[in-house]
Order: sequence, then C-alpha cells, then structure tokens
Amino acid sequence: MTPQLDPQLESIYQQVIQRNPGESEFHQAVLEVFGSLGQVVKKHPDVLENKIIERICEPERQIIFRVPWQDDKGEVHINRGFRVEFNSALGPYKGGLRFHPSVYLSVIKFLGFEQIFKNALTGMPIGGGKGGSDFDPKGRSDSEVMRFCQSFMTELYRHLGEYTDVPAGDIGVGGREIGYLFGQYKRITNRYESAVLTGKGLDWGGSLVRKEATGYGLVFFVEEMLKVEGQSFDGKKCLVSGSGNVAIYAIEKVHQLGGKVVACSDSAGTIYDQNGLDLDLLKEIKEVQRARLSVYADTHKGATYSEGGNIWDIPCDIALPSATQNELGEADATELVKNGCKIVGEGANMPTTPEATRVFQMANVAFAPGKAANAGGVATSALEMQQNASRDAWSFEHTEERLAEIMSHIHRNTFETAEEFGTPGNYINGANIAGFLKVARAMEAFGVV
Ligand code: NDP
Repeated sequence: MTPQLDPQLESIYQQVIQRNPGESEFHQAVLEVFGSLGQVVKKHPDVLENKIIERICEPERQIIFRVPWQDDKGEVHINRGFRVEFNSALGPYKGGLRFHPSVYLSVIKFLGFEQIFKNALTGMPIGGGKGGSDFDPKGRSDSEVMRFCQSFMTELYRHLGEYTDVPAGDIGVGGREIGYLFGQYKRITNRYESAVLTGKGLDWGGSLVRKEATGYGLVFFVEEMLKVEGQSFDGKKCLVSGSGNVAIYAIEKVHQLGGKVVACSDSAGTIYDQNGLDLDLLKEIKEVQRARLSVYADTHKGATYSEGGNIWDIPCDIALPSATQNELGEADATELVKNGCKIVGEGANMPTTPEATRVFQMANVAFAPGKAANAGGVATSALEMQQNASRDAWSFEHTEERLAEIMSHIHRNTFETAEEFGTPGNYINGANIAGFLKVARAMEAFGVV
C-alpha cells in the first residue's frame, strides 16, 4: 500500500520514478521522505516554486567506474565502483563507502539521499554523498583487499578532497580498507591530506570514539526516547540484528547502561544467549578472527545458534535493527508487537520496510528512523575532520561527551519538529522535516545552482 501523498508531491514522485527506472531502493527512500513533507509544502510553498524538492532528488554528480584487480592466483577481476555526490548545500559531500555484492546504483543513491538529511540533522557543516562497489571482501586475503582498494582509489582520488568529498566506511569497509584507501590517496597525490577520509587509524589521524560512534549514538538516541517516558535502559531486554561495527558497539553501550542484549545475527543465522551476549567473545570472533557468528555457540555454553533463524521472533522490550536495508518486514514487526516490543531504533540505514513501519506506528511503538538514530557515526566523522584541521587529538571522554550532546540535540530537534508540524511523537516526520528544511534554506540562499 503506497501512502497518500499531497498531489504535487505525488507528481514529483512519479517524475523521480520515470527518471530513475529500476531503482527500487532509491524510490523507497524518496517516498519515505515525501510522506513527511505534506505540511511543509503547505507552510512553505516557496520550496515548490523554487523546485527545491526536484533538485534535492537529482544528485549533483554521479561517478561510475571500472575497478580491475588481480587475485592471489593472478586471475583478473572486474568490479564496478560508484560515488554519488548528492548534495553539497551544507558542506563537502560526506558519506561512507560500501563494499558488498548487492551494491548497484540504486543502493548507493538511496544511501546518498538519506545521508543528505542525516548530515543536516547533525548540525555539522557536511553535505551528503555515498559510494562503494559490488566487490565482496568476504573470504579475500589482506593482499587481495589491498589491491582492490588501490585500484578503487586510483580512479576515486580525483573526485575527493577535504573541501570537496570526504568518504568513510560502511558495510564491508572498516579500518583495514580505510588504511589501504588512504595509503593509495597519499601516494598518488603526494599530499598527507588527513581530512580526506574518516574512520582512520588512531596512529594516523583517526579519532577516538569513531569506531564506537554509530552504535553508541544509536543507544544515546534511544535513551533520550526512554527519558521522554520517564524510563531508562535499566533491565530492558534488547535485540540487535547484525554483528558488525554498528551492532557490536550498540550492544556495548546497552550493556553499559544496564540493559541486556540477548540476541544478534549475521546473514546466515542468529545467536540467542538468554544471559546476555558475551561482548568480549563477540569482538574476538568478529573483529580479530573475522569468523562467522556460529562460532559463538561452539565456544559458549548456554547460547544457541539457529541457522537461518529469525531474530525478530525473540521477545524483547527494544529492537535495534543494525544489519542492512529492508531486513525487518511486516510479519517481523507484527511478531515484535505481539511479543511486547515498545521501542525500535534503526542502527542500519532503512532496515525497516514501509509496511513494517506502519505496523509499528499503528501499535504506538516509538520508532526512531536511521537518519536520526544512526547519525552519530557521521557526526563523529565530522569531529574527526575538526581534529585533523586543528592538528589536535581529543580524549575518549571528551569525544564521547560531544557525541552524546549531538545525539541529544538531534533527539530534541526531531521531537520538537514533529510536534510543530502536528504529529507529536512521530520521529520519522520530525527527522525528515528538520533535515529537509535545513538543506532547503541553504539551497534557496544559493539561487538556482
Ligand atoms: P558491517 O559490515 O560491519 O556489518 C554488517 C553486519 O550485518 C554483518 O554482521 C553482516 O553479516 C550483517 N548482515 C548483512 N546482511 C544481513 C541480513 N540480511 N541479516 C542479518 N544480518 C545481516 O557494517 P556496519 O555495521 O558498518 O553497517 C551496518 C548498517 O549500519 C548498514 O546499513 C550501514 O549503512 C549502517 N550504518 C553504518 C555506519 C557506520 O559508521 N559503520 C553509520 C551509519 C549507518 P555477514 O557478515 O554475514 O554479512
């Protein structure tokens, strides 16, 4: 069921579909934002007159390129690289790189589109972009990953710069990949331009808390939601899907705040540990060994691993989908509601399908969209850029404090904007409207560009 849009927004949405055929994820992300803009176009007709919405839906620049590389046996492989520089109204394009076989233009465009509003919500001077490749780092040796990253950067470098475009990590791109990418950038340009990539190692320009930032930020945001109800994480049972960067540090912060995460997952299955997940073991498996999650149950008595199992069938108070797009569907949402889930916070980008989101809204489950709830990662990337610009390195405590302040500000802004536009408690509307208006005002100030 497609939500009823304002007729003018519906017409723009149809144009977006026609101009971008076959890009279902991008269409979904656009429709999600348009669903919140009905009141905005009534209150601010200038955004229609100036065609701000049409302009925001058209990336400023899209780069698609060939990435040839050789594996350890000498066989040549060809992947496709992408960088979509979506919107620079608020600052240089900023957004991660994703290496995953499912990557194609639509995935990068949906992520880049969401990034525009997310970055606006952080209050930092950063525009929106996203990139990546259909390369699969899984099962590849370090040397293979290095050769791929070097080939990828050999084209990408000419589009980057501290004041132009600053990528970071995402699925399949962590500290190892950022290292190889930065090394090649430095080699080609002969410039030690620290602020051209974020998520760097701590010895060479990285920021403390960047690794933890998305997961921690998500939990800080949900903590603010709990405070609205006079509650806290104390004693709350949580589910966190995925077991990558976002999931691991969301689990860590939930545990620090007194909650208990009983399950996490990967693309093959789910681990359930009723006593609460053993985070040290999880980190060892995922960060050190780079092994599959199933190993957890081999070494940890009392935990069960179910191959292909569905994490959303497990009863919980709070669900934090932190794996990938459209991982939580209508039937999952119905099951979560039936089992008493009261809060959903999106750690991943667009993990909840539109049908599932409606189930949560109908059941009055408090729902935090990824644009707001997972903005802590990019916000801390902007803090990394600040430290690079001032040749400074902040302490863990100071950086975490800044992150917590930013998440609290995003919560307040989305909460108050939802109220101002007549939909109290609707964080989706709050995030979309607050992010959109900030970008729209800057675009209007710049004239027709
Ligand atoms: P990682 O690559 O570190 O981890 C992704 C995790 O999700 C892996 O455990 C992966 O398992 C799992 N996964 C993938 N597909 C599925 C599936 N269908 N069902 C269950 N688990 C699955 O990525 P990140 O943690 O960095 O990113 C996760 C999400 O968060 C993405 O949507 C990303 O865009 C978003 N995000 C990330 C930010 C960051 O700072 N890293 C910032 C903001 C958003 P497997 O190993 O089997 O593939």
